[in-house]
Amino acid sequence: MNTYKIHEMYIDKLDKKMLTIKNKCEKYGIDFSYEKLNEVFERLEDGYIHRFIEVLVNGRVHHENWEFLAKLERMPNDELYIKNHSDEDLNEFKNVNIICEHCNINRFRNNSFLMRNTETMEIKQLGKSCVKEYTDGLNADNIARYISYMEELEELEKLSRSSFSSTTYWYKTKEILAVAIAITNIFPYVKTSRLEGYHTIENEDSTKNYVLDLYCHINSKSTLRFKELKKIKIHDSLQTEANEIIDWALSVDDDSSFITNLKNVLNNEYCLIHDVGIIAYAPIAYKNYEERKRQEELLKLNKKKSQHVGELKEKLSFSIKSHEMVASYETQWGWTYVHKFTDNNDNVFIWKTGTSGQYDEDLILNGTVKEHSEYNDEKQTILTRCKIMKV
Ligand SMILES: [Zn+2]
Repeated sequence: MNTYKIHEMYIDKLDKKMLTIKNKCEKYGIDFSYEKLNEVFERLEDGYIHRFIEVLVNGRVHHENWEFLAKLERMPNDELYIKNHSDEDLNEFKNVNIICEHCNINRFRNNSFLMRNTETMEIKQLGKSCVKEYTDGLNADNIARYISYMEELEELEKLSRSSFSSTTYWYKTKEILAVAIAITNIFPYVKTSRLEGYHTIENEDSTKNYVLDLYCHINSKSTLRFKELKKIKIHDSLQTEANEIIDWALSVDDDSSFITNLKNVLNNEYCLIHDVGIIAYAPIAYKNYEERKRQEELLKLNKKKSQHVGELKEKLSFSIKSHEMVASYETQWGWTYVHKFTDNNDNVFIWKTGTSGQYDEDLILNGTVKEHSEYNDEKQTILTRCKIMKV
């Protein structure tokens, strides 16, 4: 049993290879099976994080009550190398001489196979040509085939760690977000691309590019910009802010496609380059959301402040704190304008009249209470017969 870590770029190749190996093993009567386990993220020597798929390979070359365990090899530096193809702990063999325990012809012998008798559990070291004789027929060619199949997987694993394209670089989502917060704290937000006629043009100075520049320390074309970026430090407080934004995005009740996509991206520990754009905008989206919430709460607070004033038919007088014409509509007697006033206690007054107009500060309103009503949770005193005059 062995695990191989294969780069995601080579998964198709792996699948093909596994199928071929499986077919060959079936043909030669070798037990063989495999399964894909987890995905693992690992930073390689190129400095980037890559995604690998762990593949568990189960193989066994056996005949009657003999099975193949390992190949012993004398290396050019005279060290003994045990290539273990079993789950057995073979440490006790690490200092043995390479011999054939069957024929004892050991001159120039550079390798041998460790075979185990599955009944007696005895382990024998045998030269290739003696395997068949000693085990009553275990096909040594199958051992050689099996070894070469496993070597193909090792080759693929080696390739997996040395050759890939930049489209498979993975980034830590939370780190990208922290960088985005730092950038948007300093520079105005710039979209990833713009529309010119029918063409989508990438914005060179987009926030996304700034984030990637800072995160990857890629030397930007604009040295000035890179100098600016290099001054930015990613403090722990940015990580805290990043957590805040992630908590917000994952819990906010909003099924817009932006939030849905943001949720998908922030839900994963790692992201790809095409996810960086939406992450770069996340701090802005969060700020806008917070500001909107603040405004709404302010509005609610002001609404709550407004109380009904006076009794029905009572004459009132107050100095105008604010005025707004909130509506106008036509009736059979002509146009009606709806004026909304507040007094110094933030109480709301409504006056419907045939005249429009702007009423600014330093004015006193005199009117008669017609009705006490409520509109959108706001208490409003409806006035009639109003006169507005200077102080
Ligand atoms: Zn021999």
